[in-house]
Amino acid sequence: MHEWALAEAVIVSAIEKSRKEGLKEITEIKLKIGELQQMDTGILKFALAEIAKECGELLKDVKTVIVSEPAIFRCRVCGNEWDFGAAGLNDDEGEAVHFAPEVAHVYVRCDSCKSPDFEMIQGRGVLIEHIKGVV
Ligand SMILES: [Zn+2]
Repeated sequence: MHEWALAEAVIVSAIEKSRKEGLKEITEIKLKIGELQQMDTGILKFALAEIAKECGELLKDVKTVIVSEPAIFRCRVCGNEWDFGAAGLNDDEGEAVHFAPEVAHVYVRCDSCKSPDFEMIQGRGVLIEHIKGVV
């Protein structure tokens, strides 16, 4: 369900921006979603389109672009940074980490010094990269 809550928040931001900048129409909304964020982008796109429909003229032709931000880890011991794809997990482990990023520490080790003491510096959360419109 949080896809719908997010879609609503995004549309509210878009409407606020249009008011502030005097936009007559919003043409594109671009979102960046962390690889480890539990988010179904298909549902999110659908939710955005459905909510946009209720906003009339302002959002009638809006295009939504959703890009995935890769998960990046940084070792607290040696400072090495690596991405989730390079963590060398098998499918089950990868799925477990996607499902509950907190368990990453069980499966993932720094690929340089093998320490399990690392932080996730990217790949969680949602960012509105831009909202474009015409005046
Ligand atoms: Zn390390």
